[in-house]
This record gives sequence, C-alpha cells and structure tokens, in this order.
Amino acid sequence: MADEAPVVVVGAGPVGLFAALALRAHQVPVVLLEADPADRHRAGSRALYVHGKSLSLLESASPGLGSELATQGVLWNVRRTLYRGRQVYAREFPPHDATRGLPPFTSLRQSETERVLLQACERAGVDVRWNHPVTEVVTHSGGVTVATADGTTWSGSHVVGADGARSTVRRCTGTALDGSAADGFHVVVDIADEPGGTPSLERVMHYEHPAADGRGVLVVPYANGFQVDVQSRAGDDSDLLASRQEVRRWLPALIGPTPTERITAISVYRFLQLIADDFTDPHHRILLAGEAAHLFPPFGARGMNSGFADARAAADAIVSGRRTPEVNAGAVAEFATARRAAAEVNSAAAGAALRHLRPPTAAARLRRGAAARLAPVVPRFGEWLEHAPYGPRVPMVRH
Ligand SMILES: Cc1cc2nc3c(=O)[nH]c(=O)nc-3n(C[C@H](O)[C@H](O)[C@H](O)COP(=O)(O)OP(=O)(O)OC[C@H]3O[C@@H](n4cnc5c(N)ncnc54)[C@H](O)[C@@H]3O)c2cc1C
Repeated sequence: MADEAPVVVVGAGPVGLFAALALRAHQVPVVLLEADPADRHRAGSRALYVHGKSLSLLESASPGLGSELATQGVLWNVRRTLYRGRQVYAREFPPHDATRGLPPFTSLRQSETERVLLQACERAGVDVRWNHPVTEVVTHSGGVTVATADGTTWSGSHVVGADGARSTVRRCTGTALDGSAADGFHVVVDIADEPGGTPSLERVMHYEHPAADGRGVLVVPYANGFQVDVQSRAGDDSDLLASRQEVRRWLPALIGPTPTERITAISVYRFLQLIADDFTDPHHRILLAGEAAHLFPPFGARGMNSGFADARAAADAIVSGRRTPEVNAGAVAEFATARRAAAEVNSAAAGAALRHLRPPTAAARLRRGAAARLAPVVPRFGEWLEHAPYGPRVPMVRH
C-alpha cells in the first residue's frame, strides 16, 4: 500500500477523533467513518475528567487544543470526603495560575470534549463521514478494505478501531473481550447549574450517605452543571432507582430542592472490567483503541483518558511503520503489546477502587469505618478515604 493511502478511523467518539488528529499531525490522510448522524445527541455527561497528561497529549498533537479544552471546563478547588454524614477529609487548592501552563485537569461534559475535538479535526482536514456504519473490515498484508452499510468500500493502509464497547472492528479481528462484569451499577444524574447562581466547585465523596439509605454518593462539578453519582446497594433495581419519579423523590435529600427542569439526564452505568485478547489482527493492519479495546469501571477516569493514550500510540505506530510491511508489523505489534499491558494496569487499578467502594468482605467494610473514626486524629486515614475511590496512582499517560 502506497504511503499516501488513508488511514480509516472508525468511530467519532473522543478516542477516534483524537486518533484522527494525531494522524493528521503527521500529515497522514484520514477518513473518519461514524455510524451516527452529524446532529446526534449524546445523552448524559459521561466521562468528565480530563487528566492534565491528556491535556498535554492533545496539545502536542494539535497546538492550542489542550488549553482550549481547559478553558471550556472547570477546575474544582475543594475536595471533601464524608463518612455517614461526618467530614473526614477536606482540602482547598489555590486557583490555577494559567501563566504556569496547562491545569492539572479539567472537567466538562464528554459531548463538549467531542465538540472541541471535532472542530480541531475539521481544521486539520480530517474527512469525516457521518451516517456511515462500518459493517466489515478485511485485512491483508498490504492494507485494509472497509465496508459500510450503504455498500461503499474504503481502502486504506490501516484501520483504527475506535468504535466503542460493541466494536464491529474488534469483531472483525476475531479477538474476544476477556474479563468480568461486577454486580452493581451507578445512577448518574446530571443537573444544570442554577441560572444566574454561583456554581459550587466542590467535589464531594460521601460514603454510606445517611440520606441515601447508606449508598455511596459522589458529587462532581463540570462546566455549567454537576453530576450526582449514586452507587447501588445489593438488591437495588436499576429501572426503579433510576426512574424519573424515584430520582425526584431521593435527589432533594442529597442536594436540596431542585426544579425538575434542571435535571438534564439520568443514566445507569455498570461495572465492566474487560480487555480485548489482542489489540491488532494477524496482518497488523487493525489497531484497537479506547472502549473497543477495553472497558473499565469509571473510578480514576481511566476510560476516556487511557483511550487518548491508545489513540496517540496507534498514530505513532502507523506513522513509524509506514515504510515497509516488516517495519509496520513490528511497530503495530509493539503498540498492541504496550497498550494491552497499560490496559491491564488500568483495569487492576480500577478494580482495586471498585473493591474499596464495594467492599467484598465484612472486614474490608470495617476497615473503612475504622479509618473514618480515626481520621480526625490521624489525617492519613482521611487521605486514604479521599484517594482510594480512584485506585492506586499509576501513571496515566502510559495509562
Ligand atoms: C452512561 C455512561 C456514563 C459514563 N460515565 C463515565 C464516567 O463517569 N467516567 C468515565 O471515565 N467514563 C464514563 N463513561 C465511559 C466513557 O464514556 C467512555 O470511556 C468513552 O466514551 C470511550 O470513548 P470511545 O471513543 O472509546 O468510545 P465511544 O465514546 O463509545 O465512541 C464510539 C463511537 O463509535 C461509533 N460507532 C459504533 N459502532 C460503529 C460502527 N460500526 N461504525 C462506525 N461508527 C461506529 C459510535 O457511534 C461512537 O460515536 C460512561 C459511559 C456511559 C455510556
């Protein structure tokens, strides 16, 4: 396949959009095929937290992109943790000084992140085709042929499969997703800020919230709104707990009276811990990235952030392998091994966070309670309760 053959990116979620941008940064022609129409509505705030390292990654592929995203999002400057109604940790951070570079993170709705990425793709000359669901991908030693539902075929040097959890591209590689689905779910309620009000920039984690019948509750601010994330208890029914009627009943006890029109979305999010057996195909022409390759519980915001790192690594492998099929095979195999190893690390970290939040044994639950009791005299126990819901601190860009 000649060097000027395009790379076909499948999926215009955050990972596919960034893969396209990272390829364009090397002047590689890119066709981006997306199943949904251009005017789609993506329900719910979904992944909010963009790590500082992701901002740097975006900035390096598209100068100005990291700072644009940071400007669109918010930084919460207060973190509080409570246990059964009693505060066990609180910390206020000074405001970020923008002259010192990118902030440590930013928080905005995933649809906003996607809007900014899409605009950058359009500026960078990505050929975006909406309403083009991919139905089949066939690879050979020199490249790929991709079919879309309207019968069109697309030839390219590689496919980046960024088509999410139910990936068609992954199915075409013949690789399976391996792992487990834990019991339980989160109900995530999005609430718009009060018009004209001063938004709270406090991120609050509440273990065993008395007003939520002992469920865990996390409140996370984002630009123009905030998320209330309620962790299910054993025996909860997701249809019931997440019904509009029920949400209207339990929400005021957590955040005070809230007019119904400020509730912009209610979503149910389940705990999956799955990784594709292989991130490429036998010809090394498909590179899986983001949720097409791995699904993690959301703790530590590893889904979208590690997807950005996959996308960048995929683009780098494609660019460095474009000289000969042999060099390509080596570069793509290295990508697949490195990103699978990163996914294992992230999955284990998210799993540790999940076990902290849903203690599998009475002893583990007691440990949390003991830490809460000791926190007023031994601050590191409060710090542990604050940090453990995000899992161990593993590097995020090797993510
Ligand atoms: C309700 C909900 C809440 C979430 N909350 C959080 C959270 O709090 N924190 C967090 O880190 N993560 C969260 N996530 C996960 C987060 O949204 C994902 O990590 C992120 O979207 C992954 O991005 P992606 O680009 O890999 O996949 P996606 O965003 O799923 O994008 C895949 C794209 O591929 C397209 N596509 C699919 N099939 C085809 C096809 N055959 N042909 C062409 N296009 C196709 C889809 O239309 C979509 O545009 C949440 C997800 C959901 C659903």
